[in-house]
Amino acid sequence: MDMQKIGNFLAELRKSKRLTQDELGEQIGVTNKTISRWENGNYLPPVEMLQILSKLYEVSINELLSGARLNDAHYKENAEEYIVVDLMKKCKEAKKHLTLSVIVACITILAATSIILLAAMLSAPLWLRITSIILSLIIAILGIGVCCALTFDAGVYECPNCGEKFIPSMKDFILGPHTFTKRKLKCPKCGKTSYCKKRLN
Ligand SMILES: [Zn+2]
Repeated sequence: MDMQKIGNFLAELRKSKRLTQDELGEQIGVTNKTISRWENGNYLPPVEMLQILSKLYEVSINELLSGARLNDAHYKENAEEYIVVDLMKKCKEAKKHLTLSVIVACITILAATSIILLAAMLSAPLWLRITSIILSLIIAILGIGVCCALTFDAGVYECPNCGEKFIPSMKDFILGPHTFTKRKLKCPKCGKTSYCKKRLN
């Protein structure tokens, strides 16, 4: 995205509507400084502002983000480009979450086992042993919770029987036995329960 081009286009559109930065700001509920930052290419207007501006200026959001009016052929090309950018962003985020969940899982296992081992090795009084076992259980549950939350929104599962891609319910997701890449789930299309592979898109 060319911020400078977008900014210039925004300024051009505002002038074509014969509005000053002050007048526009008042109309859409932001300060003239904010408008000036958008038009200087310092900031991209937030999504809700892009929607308001696109209506006001009678251009599409795609055109705003392209920094120019688009003809049909151009329009399609640009629309696709933004969809691809968006998908790539989502995929990247999903991968980040998956990596993070693996790290959290490792730390959890390490912490929980080391506490149990310590408690078993030391000639600690009974209450201390029980406390440490409870503590390690709490760590394990928290760790599993964090891992679930991190991996739940990352990607979809693919049914090996019919190829259907789906997002499982939170309950199925948590209860399903799994490895890092597969999870035992019921396919909503063919109804078979099997180990479904995780897909990032
Ligand atoms: Zn299926």
